[in-house]
Amino acid sequence: MRKDKHVLHFIQRIPIRWRLTFVSLGLLILLLSALGIILSVVAEQVLVNNEVNVLRNEAQVAWKGTFKSMAPQDRPFGLDLDNVFPPSGPAPANFVYTANPLLHSIDNAGTNTYAILLTPDGHSLIPNSPYIVPEQVQQIMQSAQWYLLTNDAHGHRQLFVFIPLISSSFHTVGILQISTSTIPIDNFLSAFHLTLFLGIIGTLGLALVLTFPLVGLALHPLVEIERTSRKIAQGELSMRIDPPATDDEIGRLARSFNRMLAQLEAAFRRQKRFVADVSHELRTPLTALSGSLEMLLIGADLGDKEATRRLTHGMFTEVQRMHRMVEDLLALTRLDEGKLTLRKEIITVDTLLLTVYEQSEHLAHGQKLSCDIEPALPAIGADKDRLQQVLLNIMDNALKFTLPAGKVELLARKNGQNTVVLIVRDTGQGIPPEALPHIFDRFYRADPSRSRSPQHVGGSGLGLAIAKDLVEAQGGKIEISSILGRGTTV
Ligand code: ADP
Repeated sequence: MRKDKHVLHFIQRIPIRWRLTFVSLGLLILLLSALGIILSVVAEQVLVNNEVNVLRNEAQVAWKGTFKSMAPQDRPFGLDLDNVFPPSGPAPANFVYTANPLLHSIDNAGTNTYAILLTPDGHSLIPNSPYIVPEQVQQIMQSAQWYLLTNDAHGHRQLFVFIPLISSSFHTVGILQISTSTIPIDNFLSAFHLTLFLGIIGTLGLALVLTFPLVGLALHPLVEIERTSRKIAQGELSMRIDPPATDDEIGRLARSFNRMLAQLEAAFRRQKRFVADVSHELRTPLTALSGSLEMLLIGADLGDKEATRRLTHGMFTEVQRMHRMVEDLLALTRLDEGKLTLRKEIITVDTLLLTVYEQSEHLAHGQKLSCDIEPALPAIGADKDRLQQVLLNIMDNALKFTLPAGKVELLARKNGQNTVVLIVRDTGQGIPPEALPHIFDRFYRADPSRSRSPQHVGGSGLGLAIAKDLVEAQGGKIEISSILGRGTTV
């Protein structure tokens, strides 16, 4: 168990480049060895079959030569070359004697070729000759291939070929056993094995030389990723990897890595801008506050109660503005973190809009306010307080940016079966077209100078951003359209 752990630990410490090289080389060794074994087995089989055929042909040629002067019906036996093994029958008179010339003729046909006669059941008819035990001969004769490869007493391989001798009555009268040394085949096979071995070693060497740099090339993007992530860790978020053209795992990894970087960079930039915006927004009221406090401290009001009241009222307004902003930021943070709990309930649109309408009346400074609710609206599922907050925010904007002579309408209409559209429409100053796409961005103001005018105290550019988040968190949608100088509809 511990040994296994050590081995695993050791393997894990080998660089991936080497591991991949070893794995591909290991596979190559396996494949080449399998191929080598198959090739040498097939080559040996082909050579042996070839030699068997040569010996059978030689036997046939010798038989024809020996008995060519005899009439076919006088010939003592024929050769069975059709691989049928007929039942045994009585041997002709002087069988060994008549067969002798055939045996000599075969012996003389090839070097190291030696022919003897066996009885049909495998016993040798010629004493002191190399022969196979009768049982084994019988076994071979029952099989499909009438030959045998075996070692002789000196350890040399010998090939034995058996051909039944058949009488004119189609009985086996004996078996012709031809043996020969397989030295030529063995020599060829040795040379073949050596060539194969050297070929495999050469191929492996070449594979090693090529695989290592190729694996290195394939892993290059990983090295790039590692190098880039090190630079990113030092703060260089704008860095990107040059992804390989391939659509493989590494290509996809490089591309997702780049995507992740882009998202990180955007998030980081947003975060930085957010902090900068917050500091910027807090600086104005804090400067106003410290100025007013300083004036009070140095007694710049000269004991004038009215001047003191104006100064403290200004300070109170700034504190209120900061308070509102901090509240808004807190709400946004909760929304971002998904921590803002929404209490969804079924609410009737009439009640909701009438409440908002009544509260808006206190905010109006001369504008004509109206509320129009389409009859028989379906009830809606929403967090009543949050939706009210959103509507009030939008109404507040409409009243802020509409002159006293203008008009602000609060409408509710049915849209399809189950959807209700709540509309706040004003005849105010409108929003410039170039500002419209950014109107829901945090801290965005279409006209910052006007938003900060005494009449518009409190505008921090967070109202619509919060409204959008709150509406979308409840499954709704918020849209704005506006014509400069004519009015705005949310
Ligand atoms: P603020 O607190 O500054 O009003 P908002 O997010 O509510 O922030 O609005 C962002 C900006 O959109 C405002 O500063 C203003 O320039 C513009 N805006 C919003 N509503 C209206 C409107 N009804 N008419 C004209 N401009 C508007």
